Amino acid sequence: MNRDQLAEHLRFAAELGVDGVSRDPAWRRTGNGRTGAGTGAGTGDGSPRGTGDGSPLTTENPPPTRGTLVQRLPTGTQNLQATPDTLPMVRAEIGDCTRCKLHRLGRQQIVFGVGNPNADLMFVGEAPGRDEDIQGEPFVGRAGQLLTKIIEAIGLQRGDVYIANVIKCRPPENRNPEQDEVDTCEPFLFQQIDIIKPKVIVALGTFAARALLRTLDPISRLRGRIYEYRGAKLIPTFHPAYLLRNPSSKREVWEDMKVVRKLLAEN
Ligand code: URA
Repeated sequence: MNRDQLAEHLRFAAELGVDGVSRDPAWRRTGNGRTGAGTGAGTGDGSPRGTGDGSPLTTENPPPTRGTLVQRLPTGTQNLQATPDTLPMVRAEIGDCTRCKLHRLGRQQIVFGVGNPNADLMFVGEAPGRDEDIQGEPFVGRAGQLLTKIIEAIGLQRGDVYIANVIKCRPPENRNPEQDEVDTCEPFLFQQIDIIKPKVIVALGTFAARALLRTLDPISRLRGRIYEYRGAKLIPTFHPAYLLRNPSSKREVWEDMKVVRKLLAEN
């Protein structure tokens, strides 16, 4: 790594809130996601990740799967005839939704999605929380503020990207969405993706990554790879709410965001 690359590396880390480094090899191993960290339970199974030698994932030392499409996923639902005005049509179709039980469990409003309908980059989270339910916009609470920093760390503004959730209504007490709620709501997310046609989708946290990738693997196992998804490259990474509780994992998100930035530049 030359001086310029090192300076950029440190700037990026600082913007994401990484406030120190350590020469302790154990700390470096954490950067490989081997600790099983994630918004859900980690596997803790020590399965080989990254380079397999315990060294951190870097652009010089990528895991064998970085930069390659290692999984092809079925496109799933219908292929929409996308036109620029179809997002409002999807919103209108949702209406004042009563399709699942969340409409009578305290949600104030539907949180559809926000941002540039022509975005190259889309972030997908789990479900609105309290702040989002009040404001009607995804990721506006503390986790959202961190997401905004992450977006800015790769040289973009929040308004450049599109942000949505797998489900559009706040679950009571911020519990995890239930399967029937996901099944009912995710077709609308698929429609948003098909209309926006982002080049890159970042799945934020275990829940979103599992829902999109149709797997039960935890985020700690899913991240570090690039998936092909509905015409986009999908990068799973840690949820910003998880990062607020586990700031050391910002290092891994930073690695993921560098891949995002590279993919955006390539396309
Ligand atoms: N967490 C999410 O997954 N989505 C939001 O919109 C806010 C917090």
